[in-house]
Amino acid sequence: MAPAATLKFASPVIDEATIAAVGDVLRSGHITSGPWVERFEAALSEFCAGRPVRAVTSATAAVEIALQLAGIGPGDEVITCAQSFFTVLNMIVKVGATPVFVDCDPVTRNIDLGQVEARIGPRTRALIPTHWPGSLVDMDALHALARARSLRVIEDAALVIGSRWKGTPVGAFGDLVTFSFHPNKNITSIEGGALVCNDADEARRVDILRFHGIERLPDGTRDVGFPGGKFNLPDVNARIGLAQLVRLPAFLEQRRALVLRYFERFATDPACVLPPRPADGDGQSWNMFSILLPLDRLTLSRKAFRDALAERGIATGVSYEALHLSTLGRRYGYRPGDLPNTERIADSTVTLPLHAAMSTADVDRVCEACTAIIAAHRR
Ligand SMILES: *Cc1c(COP(=O)(O)O)cnc(C)c1O
Repeated sequence: MAPAATLKFASPVIDEATIAAVGDVLRSGHITSGPWVERFEAALSEFCAGRPVRAVTSATAAVEIALQLAGIGPGDEVITCAQSFFTVLNMIVKVGATPVFVDCDPVTRNIDLGQVEARIGPRTRALIPTHWPGSLVDMDALHALARARSLRVIEDAALVIGSRWKGTPVGAFGDLVTFSFHPNKNITSIEGGALVCNDADEARRVDILRFHGIERLPDGTRDVGFPGGKFNLPDVNARIGLAQLVRLPAFLEQRRALVLRYFERFATDPACVLPPRPADGDGQSWNMFSILLPLDRLTLSRKAFRDALAERGIATGVSYEALHLSTLGRRYGYRPGDLPNTERIADSTVTLPLHAAMSTADVDRVCEACTAIIAAHRR
């Protein structure tokens, strides 16, 4: 019997209609930012209750622009969670500001808002919380804290487009919000991202920041007053993103069905820590299914566990390494032991396959493999 095909841990779903539509854009003669970007932005804006949205080349670009839009630079501090992707650390440093890390909740992995207050100082300008699949940051507490302390909020919503807080989609309220359309996310534009802003003035400023910092003068010439980047999304990508946005509800329904199957079938002895259990009507989206291994009760390392899954044709990921202990993070004085929940997750987490092209039989295959590998390595 042929071995089962390798199961990827993330994979985009692109239909033939979208592929044909991309051909039309390529043949149209207008392939970089143009009418399809405008349509994609209009659809995203509608999704975000009419707030202005600007498409850019990645969520990373969106975070950089958001920081610039908020006027954050050298001398400023930005509080963020160390259990997140490198983007947040990198962009804070890139604009010249100082990252201030706090720990996360051990199960939801969201920023521990209870630790934020103590880290706010005279130079603190903004908070960048990352929303985790399966559980949003407490938006009421987050925005109340930010208002009370006059801080900007840049919500890193790269993983959670489609999640709702008390019925309202992420992006439809708050301050600045960033989405990613990388192929591993809930919807894709190959590479791409978006920044949700507060009003037309901010959106105009984003138009400038995402395209060289160029401002058009009344005499038809151009000027730059700020070294802007080159982050405009091409129409080819916007066409894909627009087609994907239409399918977002179906993708999320399939992802949720797969997660429910994981909760039904995932059983190991000793037990792994699972993400927060889904509840009916909780409004959560599921981009990833990340577990924590009970390493102190096992005779194998995380690397060996992942290798054993890979031998069975099951790909996995690590989401995420501890930002404060990266070489860049340590430059700000952080040491092992500073943020125990983040470090425990970074050391023992494994992201299992979850994407809209999977079946429940695929989930069963992963669950059986995890059960067998762990059973064979009990301490
Ligand atoms: C993927 C991701 C990003 C970066 O998205 P890009 O579009 O690849 O720049 C940022 N934050 C989180 C939490 C992510 O998962």
